[in-house]
Amino acid sequence: MEAAEHRCPRRAENPMADRTFKGPDRWDERDGVRRCSYCGSMHPEDLFLAIADRVELGPTDKNYKVYVHLPNPKAGQIVQIGSESGPAYNVVTGEPNKPDLSLWERFRGRYDRKIMGKASATLHAKFYFQHFDDDQQMRFINLLNVKAVNIGFPGHFYRLPFFIQASKAERSE
Ligand SMILES: [Zn+2]
Repeated sequence: MEAAEHRCPRRAENPMADRTFKGPDRWDERDGVRRCSYCGSMHPEDLFLAIADRVELGPTDKNYKVYVHLPNPKAGQIVQIGSESGPAYNVVTGEPNKPDLSLWERFRGRYDRKIMGKASATLHAKFYFQHFDDDQQMRFINLLNVKAVNIGFPGHFYRLPFFIQASKAERSE
């Protein structure tokens, strides 16, 4: 079993990264996807699972980043999509800031409410290629070479991931 803690490789890009919080970084699971607590990247092994499921990867203009359009396991369900909070009463006029303040909100003098809505069909995750180790880079290249990666419009990467060298044939395409 993999340790839940890691050091995000993207910390290396920011000399100030350790100033506020040295880590260790974590993989936080949300909607069935593990995400790096430092940079928000998907876990590399979850990316490979998504590729095996033919999930569409969305190319970006960055050579270190790809979007992953995951099917939302909660699609159509009513879920929390946001929140709103504030003082229950206007400090100047004393008027309630919400027409439907509950007893608890009136007692506390504040409201903290969830905003509910229908979960979308797709979760827009992202993956940062810095999270691949050498072995995972090779696995990804092999999958690309056998065209086992579902790449969304225009069907190829605008810029190849930084660890991939385009062959001459591909460059002259
Ligand atoms: Zn990270």
